[in-house]
Amino acid sequence: MENIKIAVDGPAGSGKTTTAKIVAENLGYVYIDTGAMYRAVTLKAMRDAVKFDDASLAEMMQSTEIELRTSDRGQRTILNGEDVSEDIRLPEVTKNVSPVSAVGCVREKLVAMQRELGRAGAVVMDGRDIGTEVFPNAELKIFLVASVEARAERRTLELSRSGIEFSVEEIKKQITDRDHYDSTRKISPLRKASDAVEIDTSDMTIEEQAIIIIDAARKIIKA
Ligand code: C5P
Repeated sequence: MENIKIAVDGPAGSGKTTTAKIVAENLGYVYIDTGAMYRAVTLKAMRDAVKFDDASLAEMMQSTEIELRTSDRGQRTILNGEDVSEDIRLPEVTKNVSPVSAVGCVREKLVAMQRELGRAGAVVMDGRDIGTEVFPNAELKIFLVASVEARAERRTLELSRSGIEFSVEEIKKQITDRDHYDSTRKISPLRKASDAVEIDTSDMTIEEQAIIIIDAARKIIKA
């Protein structure tokens, strides 16, 4: 077994993206950031002033093409031909992404795309419902958790590096609100799959988290 699927789920700021990228690089796998896809749909809805309800978003989705491209700057998110990789990280998008992601037609289209992208395996996919909904048969499922303090500090630093300043307290509130929304929605809420390995990253470095996952993956690949 060489081309396994690795699902990395967990709440906001738990280190999924950075860790998943390192794991994918190390194994020579493709990395897919599914959050970027939900963010791109949210950006389109905001730009077109589309209401966040099923009927309005279903109509919008008909003219929404999302593509993930790999470049030397990492994964790029393309929305109807435009590279929106920076815009999808703006605080307004982060604020609106959970309500948009909770809508059925949005999830249906993106989950279908994600299944197609990961069908052949050799993939590390990060999100909220990868181990429960997108690939319930993934050979390795990881659920990353961390204290809200650790997550808020990481996210504040990350944003600050890209010139966006928030206090740790503000970020803590944003993270808590988003997690609450994501884990209480009706369709595919954020939760740990029963067969997922939970890793608490509060006191770990990114490298330590990545090594645990790479070791677990190599064991499965060898077997
Ligand atoms: O991973 P990231 O924080 O960029 O995800 C942004 C948002 O997209 C999440 O808060 C969640 O609402 C949504 N999402 C989702 N399912 C996924 C990935 C992300 O609902 N698989």
